[in-house]
Amino acid sequence: MQEAVQQRVILQLAVPVPLRRLFDYLPPEGLSPQALAPGQRLWVPFAGRKLVAVLVAIAEESPLAELKPALEQIDSTALFDEHSRRFLSWIADYYQAPVGEVFAAAMPAALRRGRPAHHWAEQWLQLTTEGKGLPDTALTRAPKQQALLQRLLCSGRQSRAHLKAQGFSTATGRALQARGLVEWVAGPTVPPPLPGAEPSPAPKLNSEQQQVLDAMDCSGFSATLLEGVTGSGKTEIYLRLIERVLAAGRQALLLVPEIGLTPQTLRRIAARFPAHSIAALHSGLAEGERAQSWLAAAAGQADIVIGTRSVIMTPLPRLGLVIVDEEHDASFKQQDGVRYSARDLAVVLARDTDVPVLLGSATPALETLHNALSGRYRHLRLCRRAGDAHPPQLHVVPTLHESLEAGFAPQALRHIDDALARGEQALVFLNRRGFAPALTCDDCGWIADCAHCSSKLTLHRRQRQLRCHHCDYRRPLLDSCPQCHSRSISALGGGTERSEELLLQRFASYPVIRIDRDTTASKQALDRLLAPARDGLPCLLLGTQMLAKGHHLPRVTLVVIQDADSGLFSADFRAPERTGQLLAQVAGRAGRGSLRGRVLVQSRYPEHPLLQRLLEKGYSDFARQLLRDRTTAQLPPARAMALVRAECEEPAWAEAFLQDARRFMQSLAPPSPQLLYLGPVPALLERKSGRFRFYVQVIAQQRAQLQPLLAQVSTWAERNTNRRLRWAVDMDAQDL
Ligand code: ADP
Ligand code: ZN
Ligand code: ZN
Repeated sequence: MQEAVQQRVILQLAVPVPLRRLFDYLPPEGLSPQALAPGQRLWVPFAGRKLVAVLVAIAEESPLAELKPALEQIDSTALFDEHSRRFLSWIADYYQAPVGEVFAAAMPAALRRGRPAHHWAEQWLQLTTEGKGLPDTALTRAPKQQALLQRLLCSGRQSRAHLKAQGFSTATGRALQARGLVEWVAGPTVPPPLPGAEPSPAPKLNSEQQQVLDAMDCSGFSATLLEGVTGSGKTEIYLRLIERVLAAGRQALLLVPEIGLTPQTLRRIAARFPAHSIAALHSGLAEGERAQSWLAAAAGQADIVIGTRSVIMTPLPRLGLVIVDEEHDASFKQQDGVRYSARDLAVVLARDTDVPVLLGSATPALETLHNALSGRYRHLRLCRRAGDAHPPQLHVVPTLHESLEAGFAPQALRHIDDALARGEQALVFLNRRGFAPALTCDDCGWIADCAHCSSKLTLHRRQRQLRCHHCDYRRPLLDSCPQCHSRSISALGGGTERSEELLLQRFASYPVIRIDRDTTASKQALDRLLAPARDGLPCLLLGTQMLAKGHHLPRVTLVVIQDADSGLFSADFRAPERTGQLLAQVAGRAGRGSLRGRVLVQSRYPEHPLLQRLLEKGYSDFARQLLRDRTTAQLPPARAMALVRAECEEPAWAEAFLQDARRFMQSLAPPSPQLLYLGPVPALLERKSGRFRFYVQVIAQQRAQLQPLLAQVSTWAERNTNRRLRWAVDMDAQDL
């Protein structure tokens, strides 16, 4: 007798819950299993809730006897192609992250919440086979139709909005359609081209740039560090590479560090590639715009995809090139949830898809430099500024025995005077927002602390508030000391607000543009604030690290670094690297046009060896020295490092949990010269938002030693935690 073979269909789903595995479900009732394909979203029941899950694979068996059916199918076609599903699963494995949370983090909010993709569908015009085969001269008598045909030939397809923006009428499209040369197809919406992006031709490359471009092989995987001084024309290299990739019919992915930078970079790209569809993905977009861009990228409709950190998780079916601009930037590392490094993932993605990846920076991260110097990455350099710009001159201004005005040395103020009088622009950098970083009582020494963090409150004078920059706790400004009731309370130190106040008084006839998180809270604010500076009028720019990044303002000839010292004495082994990068980047804003730049570095410790090395030899030499120091100290990047973190309102619990975690790991892999354990020790910011934070550090000679250990300690932690304690494994951790 023959047994009836009944094939079971088991859906393996990534459900957004903090457990590191897939969950098995049956297909929704009444739905033919043929309608299901991996990469689609479905609604599933989970612990009494209804969640949006992604179908990762379909199996025939499950170890579980009792399976629930999924509730409803959301997508009829896959959102995540096979490659993307594999990549996201790899991320979950490598970072010990719940796979459901990785898939959720890969989606824009609207899709994560289950909105249907067809909501953002758009009609696209593309050539039919006849259209593609048409000889060049066939339509010379109908110039409008000829122009449209030409446009489609060079860009593949155009959305309705793009056609309109370029002045093509619907009648022209209809005429071509009647001849059977074009057809309309449905696809996702791409944001229309940016207004005001005038097409701009490419400059002729200088010989250094040409050499770099010639050395870039765009067939197959290769990882390259492009170490180019500020203003050396790295962006121009990116544009040329993108051009090659577009010509080959592939997608280019460009990662940038900050939302504030995207409008500027977008304008430059749009101006170079007016006929191509560009999708931007960053947190400054409205939810609908973001979903549109994501879908356009994932469907292969967007030719150039540009975005911040999370864009790395977007499916890109036609990917041909990955570029990470300002690759050293700390914002590429996600600091909570799925703790990934978008820069590291860019290399993994490129390797998996067999395409080139370019990491560009004037101040490469030591990790990247290490890979380049050890031969794992190719190392290309641009040592001169492009066009007719010269390197800026650096001068130290000792401040210890000077009488400062709101933190400015008299010499610095005189140079600002001169620059403005010459009709040029000056930029003042101070990496502290607010009016003053501390408020203290002159009589008893009381200091205003945050009630929830181990940190001081910053004075924001205009709002008459004290604010914590770690947890955003706020309280009204006091006019007497809560401890001794003295009325003599003073602000210690200075922030951007205090500097701004002085500049406004002293340079009253010039605009003062302050750029920090307090002035750029709204979408696009940074771009708007910088507009007068871009117009080239004499003005003063003042701000935090937001000003250090990537801006090209050719009329800035003077940069004043108000306080170079804050990073010199930190307990974090990465602090010197970050300080060096920041100072070199800020200094690099000076003299990017034809006018020569000058940089004044105010310091109380002008003899400090790190500062001396940086100022005398430049970042490149400074970084190589740091790399040698790290190797001697057996620290990353010479070693692989992970942290097991825990935080809890009850400090003893977090510490005990980590003691146990360390003991557990040591029982699996005993300490040795190749595997070091440290801790539990308190985090640099020991208490944050009311919770005490600790970590155990594991340092290994090889990444491969860490991976199995971290996987097991995660499983252990899932079983041994309680609701009041938060824990996380932080592979390649950046912050202590
Ligand atoms: P980076 O990205 O290295 O900071 P950019 O690509 O922004 O440098 O270039 C700095 C400036 O030099 C820009 O104004 C750019 O247009 C200009 N530039 C770049 N390459 C050339 C070139 N080959 N000839 C003339 N100007 C150039
Ligand atoms: Zn007091
Ligand atoms: Zn706080």
